[in-house]
Amino acid sequence: MNIYKNYINGEWVDSVSGEVFENKNPAHKEEVIGVFQKSVAEDVEKGVAAAAEAAEAWKKTPAPKRGEILYKVGETLVRKKKELARDMTREMGKVLKETMGDVQEAIDMTYYIAGEGRRLLGETTPSELPDKFCMTIRIPVGIVAAITPWNFPMAIPSWKLLPALMAGNTVVFKPATDTPLSAVNFIKIFEECGLPRGVLNLITGSGKDVGEPLITHNEVKLISFTGSTEVGQGVASLCARDIKRYSLEMGGKNAIIVMDDADLDLAVEGAVWGAFGTTGQRCTAASRLVVHKDIVKRFTNKLISKTGALRLGDGLLDSTDVGPLINENQLNKIHEYTQIGIDEGAKLLTGGKICKEGDCADGYFYKPTIFTDVERDMRIAREEIFGPTVVIITIGSLEEAIDVVNDTEYGLSSAIYTRDVNKAFVAMRDIYTGITYINSSTIGAEIHLPFGGTKGTGNGHREAGTTVFDIFTEWKSIYVDFSGKLQKAQIAG
Ligand code: NAD
Repeated sequence: MNIYKNYINGEWVDSVSGEVFENKNPAHKEEVIGVFQKSVAEDVEKGVAAAAEAAEAWKKTPAPKRGEILYKVGETLVRKKKELARDMTREMGKVLKETMGDVQEAIDMTYYIAGEGRRLLGETTPSELPDKFCMTIRIPVGIVAAITPWNFPMAIPSWKLLPALMAGNTVVFKPATDTPLSAVNFIKIFEECGLPRGVLNLITGSGKDVGEPLITHNEVKLISFTGSTEVGQGVASLCARDIKRYSLEMGGKNAIIVMDDADLDLAVEGAVWGAFGTTGQRCTAASRLVVHKDIVKRFTNKLISKTGALRLGDGLLDSTDVGPLINENQLNKIHEYTQIGIDEGAKLLTGGKICKEGDCADGYFYKPTIFTDVERDMRIAREEIFGPTVVIITIGSLEEAIDVVNDTEYGLSSAIYTRDVNKAFVAMRDIYTGITYINSSTIGAEIHLPFGGTKGTGNGHREAGTTVFDIFTEWKSIYVDFSGKLQKAQIAG
């Protein structure tokens, strides 16, 4: 049995608690992937102390030099991509093609951010006074806590660790309890590539025992959190109490509009990928299909037929299209939503069952599920289910469709299938989400564009893109007066 440790101050160490937890394969629930440290507040204390000790030297390391280390991380990820993806599939179930994509996203982010070492641009601007020079620079925030979910075990950490480090911060990283192996694998690569000790620390364990002490620690200056809206609200309250910076990336209830002029086969393909890719466990998953009444019947028939062809099983097998859910809690939650939908009067078209046959016998598998006759105010149309369940809502016009899409507490991703450029532009303008796709599904973000959402999905920040450094740096404005006399802005004379 592999025993994995915390990484603090450049060393792999046991938790002070002396306790561990098991990480199991959701496709074969008896298979233990490894044993990990069940850490506590004292471990957080040590991790933060290490990050504090390393902060000054790291901050003063020239940004291009920081970038060179991160670039090596990218090179190593490329070399190890397949083995990292296999470990990821074993610990969280996504099919291998998708875990390869997850590692690829980390690679893309690493190269992109490493290049920023030679930019990290500020601005110069004229002064209103003579013989005076004005500029802005970005400065590090300090110690960053990165708290991440299990559905993108390497991609999401990369979205936080890379820009945080590039900007000159030091980091304490707490991954999800369901995916600690990918976190350990990622950290080992930073270690191998020569990141100085203490700059990046890993502490595994629960939200309560590790996450909260990290958030409330005096020396931690920024919380970068991705996870559920419910937990995010708790993070926000703790941070508000201490007047602390925090960025939140949270849930979604994303919709695809299919208009009557759409390429139906393309739309169905996008809907299947959006709803059932990653077993529906994506923040950007398409969980609402908002379909024009004139084509809803044809669309639904095609959708049922394509969904019926999906093969469930272990994500390591080439034959698998849809892997398991992450754990038993999620399996039960998703099954409960099926009952909720039925009780609300929606019509279950397919799925709605726990799958225990064949390859699914000893894992957490759920049949891809489609509801129709769904009203926008039903719980299955409003709440984030985070599984392979999609609802069809029928509309009669573009205006109604956009109204339905916007009628949710969340605002992450959206899509429209139409061949009418005017309709596409109206949707781009009027849908209130952080991301909108035209003739493509709700998933497929690229790392050099801002990522995040409106309303309950976030608190206004955007990860990735150029905007990411607005999270991980403070702006500083600098005025250089070379007139040799006292000059007063706004005051003549
Ligand atoms: P979660 O909120 O349960 O957990 C996220 C992280 O927070 C985990 O590391 C967890 O251990 C930690 N945590 C839990 N309780 C905590 C507490 N009290 N204090 C501090 N930390 C705590 O989410 P999850 O189940 O891991 O992930 C699924 C959710 O993440 C979904 O809602 C999904 O939409 C969302 N998500 C959002 C994005 C995005 O970018 N918007 C991306 C991926 C996932």
